[in-house]
Amino acid sequence: MRVCIESGCGTLTDKTRCLEHRRAKDQARGTRQERGYDAEYDRLRAADVAAMARGEVLTCWRCERVVMPHDYSLGHCDDDRSIIHGPEHLHGCNLANTRGGCPHASHISPAA
Ligand SMILES: [Zn+2]
Ligand SMILES: [Zn+2]
Ligand SMILES: [Zn+2]
Repeated sequence: MRVCIESGCGTLTDKTRCLEHRRAKDQARGTRQERGYDAEYDRLRAADVAAMARGEVLTCWRCERVVMPHDYSLGHCDDDRSIIHGPEHLHGCNLANTRGGCPHASHISPAA
């Protein structure tokens, strides 16, 4: 038996983490991936944030207007949350599509 590796936790376990912390970790991973926020999302998002920091101008894939850093969100497909379409407005565009059917160009012309 050894002590759980989570800092501040003194529970003895035969695994890396105690039962409580294993459960908490699985849950955090599961919910993030279910919502489409995985490592790929983090990587693309970090790249966009870095681009904006360099002064590059990103445009929203939904409305094609410029996305300012404070209003930036990396947008998912409305139809399939595992597909990332690109930068979009956090306010206004992020939750804009309630009409059904993702409006991204890739669904209209597969080449795009
Ligand atoms: Zn623990
Ligand atoms: Zn927009
Ligand atoms: Zn889509």
